[in-house]
Amino acid sequence: MSEKKTNKEELLQTPKGMRDIIGEDYYNFQGFFEKAQEISEYYGFKPIQTPILEHEEIFTKGVGGGTDIVDKEIYSLKTKGGDKLAMRPEGTAPVMRAYIEHGMQNKPQPVKLYYYGPTFRHDKPQKGRYREFYQFGLEVLGSPKSIMDAMVIHMGILMLKEAGIEKVSLKINSIGDAESRKDYLKELVNYYKKHLSKMNATDRQRLKENPLRILDSKDPNLAQINAEAPQSVSYLNSASKKHFKEVMENLNELGVDYELDHTLVRGLDYYTHTVFEFFTETESSVDDIESKDGEEVVAVTKKLALGGGGRYDYLSKSMGHKKEVPGVGLGLGVDRIVEASKNIPRPRVNKKAKVYFIQLGTEAKMKSLKVIEILRQNKIPVRQSLSKDSLGSQLAIAEKSGIPVTLIFGQKEALENSIIVRDMSNRSQTTVDIDKLAKYLKNL
Ligand code: AMP
Repeated sequence: MSEKKTNKEELLQTPKGMRDIIGEDYYNFQGFFEKAQEISEYYGFKPIQTPILEHEEIFTKGVGGGTDIVDKEIYSLKTKGGDKLAMRPEGTAPVMRAYIEHGMQNKPQPVKLYYYGPTFRHDKPQKGRYREFYQFGLEVLGSPKSIMDAMVIHMGILMLKEAGIEKVSLKINSIGDAESRKDYLKELVNYYKKHLSKMNATDRQRLKENPLRILDSKDPNLAQINAEAPQSVSYLNSASKKHFKEVMENLNELGVDYELDHTLVRGLDYYTHTVFEFFTETESSVDDIESKDGEEVVAVTKKLALGGGGRYDYLSKSMGHKKEVPGVGLGLGVDRIVEASKNIPRPRVNKKAKVYFIQLGTEAKMKSLKVIEILRQNKIPVRQSLSKDSLGSQLAIAEKSGIPVTLIFGQKEALENSIIVRDMSNRSQTTVDIDKLAKYLKNL
């Protein structure tokens, strides 16, 4: 492709589909991460951070052609040394690469890992869809057991609910193992061949490369055809049937509601057995959300995908590893969760201030940092505006902030090593020695 010049207006802006994360948003992302991390650690998962860049083949081989994220959306680059690298469009293949590279198969199995970081897809940006977005992911590597699938699904729901998503819904399906899938694909291809005349060019191409993907086609002409298409669950062999039944039994035991959706296949080549997706209801308009008539018929509610995942028993082999590494995982879309949450947890570092510190005069300003340091060492969160000089401007900020206690440190107090503690609710004031300040504030 020919090189495009950045024009003057574009120069001082983030690239299309990418954004700065600032202020409250930053804390919201971090608050979600801390919640997800807390749940992951509780269930015995350990952190991993893989590079943003990987060899492109990690994705072209692992994730596979015929998927949008590899065929159309991958950010790839050739380095000065001639390597072909890609910015990760998803998190599972890099984690599998790390598992193999570090010989994690020699550790007690399964190896349970969580990750968090930016993901890149060169898609058409719109509300809720970015070219750089954040995913939190879980991967369980080295176990074929159905309870692992159920655990990952359960943890995903917990993370969403405890991050303030009120209505979480779950869709699941099983595409079985290789044997089941072979029979199913044969039937599916025969079925779509009968409907070729109604299929658009993209879906016809998919019929050749990745027929499963036609099931999640957005073409309205295919809606009815897809609804009547053969269902993967009807082609499961007995082992696959047993696995899926156990997953559902586990979810029933946990009281998790789910909807079986036979059109759910999750595009990526590497999935086997269980596939699932989490949704919430929204009125926004991202185009991978499904429309359904609202109960009152007044509004149309839409389902926004907040995450998904599945089992990927053949991924390691498709990436060129000799051994099969059965695994199951999920990826959650943090940008969307932060936008949809009504009550995102506060990050630990962003404590609510307990006191507002005001200083007046040169002597007091000089000693201010020392007083603030005493408070920090005693874990008393404080706000201040040391750059300001007048009482009026500092009091105005203190009033506006809603912080319940103000500390006033003037010339006299600086000389006497004391400070005025003002209760903002009734404006009563007490003078306290600096030495006793921390203890006094803790007892308030
Ligand atoms: P996927 O593995 O493609 O299902 O992605 C997992 C989750 O990441 C989705 O359910 C979305 O919540 C989120 N996600 C995927 N693509 C984007 C994007 N371009 N922008 C923002 N979030 C995204």
